[in-house]
Amino acid sequence: MNFYKGTPPGSILQEMENTVVQSCDQREQQNTPLFLKEKGGAGERGNFFSREKKFPLSPAHSFTLIELLVVIAIIAMLAAILMPALGKARDRGRSTNCLSNLKQITMANLLYAESSNDFLVPYATDMMSGNRHRWCGTSQVSSNFGESASYDPSDAPLAQFLGGKGVISQCNALRDPPKSFEMNCGGYGYNVLVGTLYPGEYSHEAYASGFPVKRIRHVTEKIMFADSAIMVDANGNWSPTPSNHGYSASIEAPGGSWLMNPTMHFRHNRRAAVSFCDGHAETMTLEDSAYGDEQYMLGYPCKNDDENREKYFDPRY
Ligand SMILES: [Zn+2]
Repeated sequence: MNFYKGTPPGSILQEMENTVVQSCDQREQQNTPLFLKEKGGAGERGNFFSREKKFPLSPAHSFTLIELLVVIAIIAMLAAILMPALGKARDRGRSTNCLSNLKQITMANLLYAESSNDFLVPYATDMMSGNRHRWCGTSQVSSNFGESASYDPSDAPLAQFLGGKGVISQCNALRDPPKSFEMNCGGYGYNVLVGTLYPGEYSHEAYASGFPVKRIRHVTEKIMFADSAIMVDANGNWSPTPSNHGYSASIEAPGGSWLMNPTMHFRHNRRAAVSFCDGHAETMTLEDSAYGDEQYMLGYPCKNDDENREKYFDPRY
């Protein structure tokens, strides 16, 4: 008898067998790593390290010029979207650091008052005579000499409340001012109306002492220290023609009969860091600028009038 060994060709069983063999081949192909499928790879007959081996990113699969340009355009677009956000985050970090500096000198001044019968530190005791003393240090020469008048912070009346050496950490948003006039103030000015005994009066008696803390009205609104600057020339001398920002140890109030150029500096993204007589600190927006434009960011956080002078600056109101 002639027995047929195996599946009869053309039968249903033969078709099923073919289907099973094909699906096994496909599965094997799918489970094989890509590099093994390449010609000359380990899955291919021959040597795995063969020179004929091709990697997935062969020249046949490299980017076209159009694809490359699209990728560059997307990266440029993402950078344009992200850069302002990163810049704002950096500015926020700087103003946080600045507010911390301000709180430190404000606390030092309140501690000074506690040890001085409630009188805040005077802005400049000898303003009407030698003019060598500031709240932030002592100079060897009168500040009328401008650039040569640098102030030693270790002689400052606040030094003992600022770690002994009186060093004030500088505002990190103040860019490369000439290293001279009043530089040890760290770029912070003291509200002169709080730093005098008789606010607005120009006399020896007025400058002999700061204002008493207990007599300050609306203490949460009265500015004590703030970001400050003054216009100077390249040598650090005060200049009516703006050329550069220099240091200013004072904050000048708006309004009043004797009006100086504003020295509050809104250098944190159009805002100034400010501390108040109750010890808190915050940033304020530039409302009224000087020099006819906003290029130098010097001005006031309010309208330039007597009403706001009283509200934010004068401790008697
Ligand atoms: Zn600042």
